[in-house]
Amino acid sequence: MVVDLDRCTGCQACVVACHAENNIALNLEDIVLQQRAMNWIRIERYWEGEYPNVKARFLPMFCQHCNNAPCEPVCPVYATYHNQEGLNVQVYNRCIGTRYCANNCPYHARFFNFWERDLEDTHREYLNPNVTVRTKGIMEKCTFCVQRIRKSEWERRQADEELQDGDVAPACVQACPTDTLVFGNLEDEDSRVAQLAKNKRHYRVMENLGTDTNVIYLKKVDPHASETAPAHAGTAASSGRNSA
Ligand code: SF4
Ligand code: SF4
Repeated sequence: MVVDLDRCTGCQACVVACHAENNIALNLEDIVLQQRAMNWIRIERYWEGEYPNVKARFLPMFCQHCNNAPCEPVCPVYATYHNQEGLNVQVYNRCIGTRYCANNCPYHARFFNFWERDLEDTHREYLNPNVTVRTKGIMEKCTFCVQRIRKSEWERRQADEELQDGDVAPACVQACPTDTLVFGNLEDEDSRVAQLAKNKRHYRVMENLGTDTNVIYLKKVDPHASETAPAHAGTAASSGRNSA
């Protein structure tokens, strides 16, 4: 995945789409007040400057599908592992809820289910039948909408064809009105995502940790930036939040 921060307006369409696609529990007021809100993707907002010359910066954050994932080796039951496509996968049926993985994720991308879902009958009609409803006591996080990847693969297979660049659009990518999020196979040199990843604005969040993420960010272009501005203005590293 490539995230072009120069395009993000912080509209939160990706957040809403991810919730609807992946049957994520609603963040009701009492849940938010307990600081147990769950968002597989969130928009981090940073402020630069002093009032009245203030600028808002936005950074979509979700599981970075690290190639060297700190969440994987700490799981005692192998509920999280790396698959052959480079996805960081969570096996819900194996998870026993130790939360070691969440503690070891430097991106705060994992969430624990504190409650059993209390779904009214009418709410059940809104669920996506292609995605499991997780139960109390297990971890969950962004899957890169693996159900959509599998569906696209199956459709191509029926036509005896290979998966093409652009076939798979995770819900957040599909919903983004500004084309901030681009999904594809980084190992395919000709794919759009691989081409974008070569842009000179590219960087990985907290790459000093050696997590070797599969999400690449493109730095925001600021025509008014002074020469003394930090190199990654508007990112987690420059804001002081989540910095290593
Ligand atoms: S971002 Fe966190 S949850 Fe995702 S692979 Fe990396 S360490 Fe694991
Ligand atoms: S790729 Fe899918 S699961 Fe991940 S943040 Fe986007 S919509 Fe949510």
